[in-house]
Amino acid sequence: MHILLPGPTPIPEAVQEALIRAMSDHRGTLFGQVDVKVRTELATLLGAPTKDHIAILPASGTGGLEAACENLLSPGDRALVVETGLFGRRFREVAEAHGVDVECVEIPWGQAFNPQEIAERVRQKPYRAILVTHNETSTGVLNPVEALAQAIGTDPGAPLMIVDSISGVPSIPLTLGPGLDVIIAASQKGFMCPPGLAILALSERARQSVVSDTRPGRFYFDLRPYLSGRLPYTPAIGLWHALHAALGLLRAEGAFARLQRHRMLRDMVRHFARAGGLTLLVEDAVASPTVTALGLPSEMNPGDLRRHLENAGLQIAGGLGLWHERAIRIGHVGHVDRADLAAGLTLMAPHLPHSEQALAAMIPFLKEA
Ligand SMILES: *Cc1c(COP(=O)(O)O)cnc(C)c1O
Repeated sequence: MHILLPGPTPIPEAVQEALIRAMSDHRGTLFGQVDVKVRTELATLLGAPTKDHIAILPASGTGGLEAACENLLSPGDRALVVETGLFGRRFREVAEAHGVDVECVEIPWGQAFNPQEIAERVRQKPYRAILVTHNETSTGVLNPVEALAQAIGTDPGAPLMIVDSISGVPSIPLTLGPGLDVIIAASQKGFMCPPGLAILALSERARQSVVSDTRPGRFYFDLRPYLSGRLPYTPAIGLWHALHAALGLLRAEGAFARLQRHRMLRDMVRHFARAGGLTLLVEDAVASPTVTALGLPSEMNPGDLRRHLENAGLQIAGGLGLWHERAIRIGHVGHVDRADLAAGLTLMAPHLPHSEQALAAMIPFLKEA
C-alpha cells in the first residue's frame, strides 16, 4: 500500500526493526540509557535547554495538547487561541475542557494568521498563554509562528506561547526561542514512527511553571516526574526504541535538507494537481510543506475517489470540517521521497480531468533527482 497521508506515515526499515527488537525492563539500565539519549537528542532538535525540558508521553498528539493545558494553565486563566482550521479548534476545545477562559481569533479556512495583528491583540490585555497551530493539517497552511514569537516579544508579562507542531516539526524545523515556550509534536508524522508518543519541549520559563505552580487536575499527564527523568508508569517501550532509531535517521539527513525535501514534495504535488485540473485551496506563499488540500471538480466525489484509490493501492486523506464534501488531502511528510510520491500520484492520475497533463507536470521533478 502506498501511503500519502498526513499521519500515520510510512515507517523506515530501521525504525521497524528497532520496534521489534525492543522489549526490555523499563526499570533496567538499557532502557534508561535509551530514554536519556532520546531526550537529549530531542532537546537539540527542538532547541530545549536540557533533556529535562523534554517530556515523552504515551499518547497520540492530542494527549500532548491536553498535557500542555493541564500543566501550564489553571481554570480561569485567560488564553488566546488562534484558530486556522480544525486542529486549532481542537486546541481550543481542550483548553475549554480544562476551564480556561478562552478567547479565539478565527482565521478563514485556507489562510494563515497575520503575526502583527495577533501581536496587537495580545498587547491589548494580559493573557496567560497564546495557543497556536504551526502547520494546520486540515487546510494545509503553514502559519508564521516564529514571526509571531518575535512580534510578541519576551517581556516578563508576555504570554506563554504554546505551539501545536504535530504535523510540522521535524519535517518543518521549529525550535524554542525567545517568545516561543512550548512545542508539541507526535511520533506518527514527521518522526516516522508508529502512533503512540506525544512529545513536549519546554522553555525554562515554561518548565518552571510546570514544576513550581500549584495546579489541580493533574495525574497521568502530570509532567513533573517526566521533567526530572522519571517515568512514573510503564512507558511504550517499543516506541521509545523506534524513536531512538528515527532520531538517528533525522540527524543523518539534517534539518535543512529535510525542509528542502518536503518543499520539493509539496511543489511536485501542486504542479501535478494544477495541471490535472484540481483546485489548490491554499496560496503558494502559505502552502504547507507536509500536507496539501485539493478541491475536486463538482462531478467528482472525494469519498468515491478515495475508495477507488485504496483498491488500487493508494491511501490519501479526506477533506476535514468545512472542506469535507469537496476536498482531499495528500500527505507528503516523513519517510517519503520523490519516487514514493510519483508512484502514488501516478495511481491517482487516471482519475483526474487532465491525466496526461498531470503526469507530464511531474517529469521535471523526477529529472532533478
Ligand atoms: C495529527 C494532528 C493532531 C493530533 O492528532 P492525534 O490523532 O491525537 O495524534 C493535532 N494537531 C495537528 C496539527 C495534527 O496534525
